[in-house]
Amino acid sequence: MISVEEARAYILKHFHPLEAERVDLLSALDRVLAEDIISDLDVPPFNNSAMDGYAVRAQDIASASREKPVTLRVIGNIAAGYVAQNRVEPGTAMRIMTGAPLPEGADAVVRFEETSEGVDAKGTREDAKRRESVEILKAMQRGDNTRAAGEDMRKGNLVLSRGTVLRAPAIGVLATVGKKQVAVHRRPRVAILATGDELVSADEPLAPGKIRNSNEYSNAAAVLKAGGIPIQLGIARDNIADLTAKIRAGLDADVDLFLTSAGVSVGDYDIVKDVLGAEGEMHFWQVKMKPGKPLAFGVLRGKKPVPILGLPGNPVSSIVSFEIFARPAILTMLGKNKFTRPSVTAQLLEDATNSADRRNFIRVIVEKKNGEYVARTTGEQGSGILTSISKANGLLVMPEDLTFIRAGSEVEIQMLDWPEFEA
Ligand code: AMP
Ligand code: MG
Repeated sequence: MISVEEARAYILKHFHPLEAERVDLLSALDRVLAEDIISDLDVPPFNNSAMDGYAVRAQDIASASREKPVTLRVIGNIAAGYVAQNRVEPGTAMRIMTGAPLPEGADAVVRFEETSEGVDAKGTREDAKRRESVEILKAMQRGDNTRAAGEDMRKGNLVLSRGTVLRAPAIGVLATVGKKQVAVHRRPRVAILATGDELVSADEPLAPGKIRNSNEYSNAAAVLKAGGIPIQLGIARDNIADLTAKIRAGLDADVDLFLTSAGVSVGDYDIVKDVLGAEGEMHFWQVKMKPGKPLAFGVLRGKKPVPILGLPGNPVSSIVSFEIFARPAILTMLGKNKFTRPSVTAQLLEDATNSADRRNFIRVIVEKKNGEYVARTTGEQGSGILTSISKANGLLVMPEDLTFIRAGSEVEIQMLDWPEFEA
C-alpha cells in the first residue's frame, strides 16, 4: 500500500499548466491569467469629484461654518462625462457631480449636505442648477472629496500578474485597462469512461442485476466544477474489445486527462487493468485511504501521451478519489498551484472511529450553531452510499493511526463546498 501523499506526488509530476489561449473577458472568469497586464493609462485618468456637491478653492472657505457660512458665486454645472470650460476663480464655485473632472482652479469639493443647497433643499433640480450663489457651511482641506488621477492604477504599472485567478473584480480591472480579450491557460479536456456490465445509463430502463451509471455524471460534474471540459464517453463493457475501442475513441477526442471508473480492484471481471496495461504504462495501487483504496494511474500511448486515472467503482470512492487526485491534476493544468480546500475548526457532535489503518475521509455536514461550527456525520459511511457524500459539505480527515475521536472534540474539517447560509 502507498500513502495518499506518495500517490498524489507521483501523479502530479505528470501535469503542467496547459498552453495559453486568448478569450473574451467573460470566458476568462475563474481562469488563470497567462500574461502580465500593464495599465495603459492612469486610473482614474483625471482628478475628479468623489461626491455630488460644489467644486471650490479650499482657501476660499477656510473660515466657513454653519454659524458663519461663506457665500460663493456659482459659475457652472459639471456632470460626469463632461469637462468644464471655465476655471473656478477666487470667490466662485461650480456644482459638480460624482465622477466629473475637477475644474481648473478648484482643489476640493463640498458635499451638498454641507451647503445651503442641502439645507434649504426646496425647489426642483432645475432650480438648483440655476442657483447663482451658494453658502458653504464647512471648511475643507485641499483634496477633500476628490479623487486624484492615478490613485487606483498608474500608466505603465503591473495591475494583474501572470498566475492570477481571475475573479469578477479582476475582470473589471481588465475592462478598465481596455482589454477585451486576455490570455489564460486552456481548460483541460477530460475524458470520462464508466466501465461495467452492470451499468445502464440514466435514461435507460433497469433490468435485473443492473444499476444506473452514476459515476459518469458525478465525475463529469466534478470536472466542470474544477474548471475542466468533460468529454463523456459513456459505458464500456467488461470485455477487452469494447474497453479498448472506447479508450481509443477517447484518445481520438484529443483529451488531456482520461478518467475511468471501476474495474481496478481484484474482481474476476476487473479487466480494465489488462486493457490499460496494454494501452499504456500503468501502476495499480492500493492507496492507504478509505474510501478509495484501489487506484490506477498511468500514461496512455495516443497521438500524444495522455495521463489516465483509474478511479474506483464505488460511487463514494470514485468521488473522494477524484477530489484527492483528479481535482489537483485539473487545477494544475488550469495553471493553478494551490489545491487545499479551506478548512474550519468545528466541534464534532458524535464519536468518530477509524478501524481501517488507512486515512479515513468521513463525510460530514458542517453548520454554524450559536456562532460556532459544529460537524456531524452524514450517517452510514459505506463506499457505496452515494447519499453519504451528496449530503456532506465537508470531510473529516482521520489519520491512518487514529482510531477514535470523542464527541465534543474540536476537529478540522476540509470543506468540500461552502454554500451560503442563513445569517
Ligand atoms: P468494481 O470496481 O468494478 O468492482 O466496482 C465496484 C462497485 O462500484 C460495484 O458495486 C459496481 O457496481 C459499482 N460501480 C461501478 N461503476 C459504477 C458507476 N459508473 N456508477 C455507479 N456504480 C458503479
Ligand atoms: Mg466491475
